[in-house]
Amino acid sequence: MSKHTYAINIMEEDFRFSDIVKYANDIVVVTKTRQDDVTHQEIVYVNTAFTTITEYTAEEAIGKKAKLLELFGSDEEAKNNVRQSLRDNKPVRATAQSRTKSGKKLWIDISIVPIKNGQGDYAYFASIERDVTNEKNLLIELDQLSNQDPLTGLYNRRALNKEIEQELSRFHRSGIPFSFILLDLDHFKAINDTYGHSAGDKVLQEISDLIKHEKREYDFAARIGGEEICIMLPDAPLEQAMNFSERLRKLISETCVSQGNENIKVTTSIGVTEVITEDDSIESIFNRADEALYEAKATGRNRIISATTSNN
Ligand code: GH3
Ligand code: MG
Ligand code: MG
Repeated sequence: MSKHTYAINIMEEDFRFSDIVKYANDIVVVTKTRQDDVTHQEIVYVNTAFTTITEYTAEEAIGKKAKLLELFGSDEEAKNNVRQSLRDNKPVRATAQSRTKSGKKLWIDISIVPIKNGQGDYAYFASIERDVTNEKNLLIELDQLSNQDPLTGLYNRRALNKEIEQELSRFHRSGIPFSFILLDLDHFKAINDTYGHSAGDKVLQEISDLIKHEKREYDFAARIGGEEICIMLPDAPLEQAMNFSERLRKLISETCVSQGNENIKVTTSIGVTEVITEDDSIESIFNRADEALYEAKATGRNRIISATTSNN
């Protein structure tokens, strides 16, 4: 069957294309372009899925300005992309955030296509929008899980590496310093041996909670091994990191973790370093902090050593 015959047959069938749009599972919104401002789109049609998903009636929507750009929130790149496509009468596809009438958050996969009027001029846009809230939330959750240590809720090594890489390139670009703290609990094996592994887990959790509570909001704490925790402190020179480490060391040594009738005490050794111009990888920063930590262990534990750098 040729393409031509096929098209004619469809036209001869006794149904209306508008019904397909009306009853589609995806939202269909048609907007009319204002001649003087292509980003000003007035809603002229919404289908049934629109009213079901957004909770707005057709009457509430029609005649209103479509908030197409607002859907992209503060994502300037996505907004510019959509704005440019509207200007150029080009189709565009993106994922955006929206809200239902009652305020429920929605993620929508939105695809906007320019439509011509009877005179052959582009005068409308059709937005076909799919509710992808469940899928998107699942992706967000997966992303969180892949960056998180399940026992303590701190970040994991993978997340820390990503964060340090970003902070390191920020430092090389703009000279904004950051510090790096490496913390290892003292004689932790003995805690496991004396009180059992689950008591050890509880100690790890409580120490992690203490760190979460004490750190600044934008400090980045990650569990990178058994009982080794790293804290990256953006915008913090060595002295500030040393003061913070001392506060942590003291608080940890004063902590009592209760397990049954037992009160478990634990101390920590800490290595601290500040980023230097010569640092071109995570390894050099990490190794410096690790050497300092080793020295803290070797010289008696429950103490803090700052790494030796050409800066000090
Ligand atoms: P040091 O003061 O030299 O750091 O001594 P340590 O015993 O803390 O050091 P070591 O690295 O020899 O032992 C760390 C122990 O941490 C070994 C392991 O039994 C324990 N550990 C590692 N991961 C976990 C965990 O997820 N839960 C518990 N309970 N223990 C863990
Ligand atoms: Mg240890
Ligand atoms: Mg260790």
